[in-house]
Amino acid sequence: MDVKLSEIITVTSLVKKYDNKFLALNGLNLNINQGEIIALLGPNGAGKTTLISTICGLTSITSGKIEVNGFDVIKDYRKTREIIGLVPQELALEPFEKVINSVRFSRRLFGKKDDNKYLDQLLIKLQLFDKKDNIIKSLSGGMKRRVMIAKALSHNPSILFLDEPTVGVDRENVKNFYKTVNELNKEGITIILITHNLSEATGEFTHILSIHNGEAVVKVIDQEDED
Ligand code: ADP
Repeated sequence: MDVKLSEIITVTSLVKKYDNKFLALNGLNLNINQGEIIALLGPNGAGKTTLISTICGLTSITSGKIEVNGFDVIKDYRKTREIIGLVPQELALEPFEKVINSVRFSRRLFGKKDDNKYLDQLLIKLQLFDKKDNIIKSLSGGMKRRVMIAKALSHNPSILFLDEPTVGVDRENVKNFYKTVNELNKEGITIILITHNLSEATGEFTHILSIHNGEAVVKVIDQEDED
């Protein structure tokens, strides 16, 4: 029997024209189900960052509709932002802050009450618990990436966007990074990962989505074919 998965992101006829009249997204349609782990591919300038910025409510849309968990990203932006965690491309961390304070601060930005138990569990999951009281400046590059994830998950969202998270990360750390991302997915977090380097992550995704000419093309990976 087919089990109908619940749709967590629905993008309908999305058009994004920048102020300089550049058409970045041209009537894009996309459905993402809860629990999926998706790679978003496409050459530089394809519109990947524009797409996730509109879903996250960081960039306005020209026309079309985006719903996250049934809520409109414009009308119900508080609700949709609560469901989403975003790890941006650039490392944006406070070098002299302790790991735990940085993560706690991110949670407070969402107006959420402190929850030391949840944050401790999150740091354990991301192998950062023993670094909790260390300042960020003292961490390795791979650990700093994981702090970015901890900050993005600090308010307990159900969707995680990762924008080119492995740029400049060495091979061993890339492997560990994907292992962590997969574990988060197995716990039920829907993952959408922008990458230009699919080869480093083949086999990890349920779907590959590629953007051409501002329109999305979905290629489904049959996991059994991967073995
Ligand atoms: P990708 O993430 O796939 O590299 P982007 O979404 O960053 O692509 O960009 C898509 C296109 O939109 C590019 O041609 C880029 O130059 C253009 N673009 C992005 N941001 C702006 C902006 N603020 N104003 C004008 N054009 C933009």
